[in-house]
Amino acid sequence: MIRMESVDKFFGPLHVLKDITLEVPKGQVVVVLGPSGSGKSTLCRAINRLEPINSGTIEVDGRPLPAEGKELARLRAEVGMVFQSFNLFAHKTILDNVTLGPIKVRKQPAAEARKTALELLERVGIANQAQKYPAQLSGGQQQRAAIARALAMRPKVMLFDEPTSALDPEMVQEVLDVMTTLAKEGMTMLVVTHEMGFARQAADRVIFMADGEVVEDSTPDSFFSAPKSGRAKDFLGKIL
Ligand code: ATP
Ligand code: MG
Repeated sequence: MIRMESVDKFFGPLHVLKDITLEVPKGQVVVVLGPSGSGKSTLCRAINRLEPINSGTIEVDGRPLPAEGKELARLRAEVGMVFQSFNLFAHKTILDNVTLGPIKVRKQPAAEARKTALELLERVGIANQAQKYPAQLSGGQQQRAAIARALAMRPKVMLFDEPTSALDPEMVQEVLDVMTTLAKEGMTMLVVTHEMGFARQAADRVIFMADGEVVEDSTPDSFFSAPKSGRAKDFLGKIL
């Protein structure tokens, strides 16, 4: 579903993604772990071409990601992305935030977009916030709205880049719960997170990155109980 092959990315002289080859098959949940600066965000951003890559190929759903144009907009719509900062449009209501993409990009009729949006807001538990503006919601509610907004595009894949790390601790679980439900429903997901509980429970695979490389790619069980590399052992020693 996502397939990266021999992907390299440089920021000037800095080699940030080093010959990355990885696959996220349909329905799998892959958690990406790694120290700060190891390239996790760049990896996510490369997948929907928010960052150009220097070499290699990236395919989503069997098709290479085009560099630009209409085709890129269409493919990008199939890759939902949720960031650390919620990135909602501040001067639009929650409902309008969710219907905007389907109406503009997917050309859905407004009534249909609204119906789907309300269903999605119900699913993430904030249907009663639909008419409010982002600033009137808690961080956890805003992040759930951001997830609903991404889902409204009917993505084939969801990318999450530290979706809970900007949240107050008491709001982390409500967002993780929504993600866990999505995972159980069979969504294909690539999740960068420091939430080890989520990694243990929801991930089919854990990828450990360090210094721009995929150092380990294993099941959560074997990664947490028996990390192979020194760098993974160090990392786990610091966070667990
Ligand atoms: P964190 O856990 O702190 O979010 P990360 O694993 O997501 O880290 P990236 O943000 O992907 O790491 O950054 C990888 C490397 O690329 C870092 O050394 C970073 O400083 C560098 N980098 C990221 N974005 C840029 C940019 N736009 N220009 C130059 N260097 C960048
Ligand atoms: Mg990052």
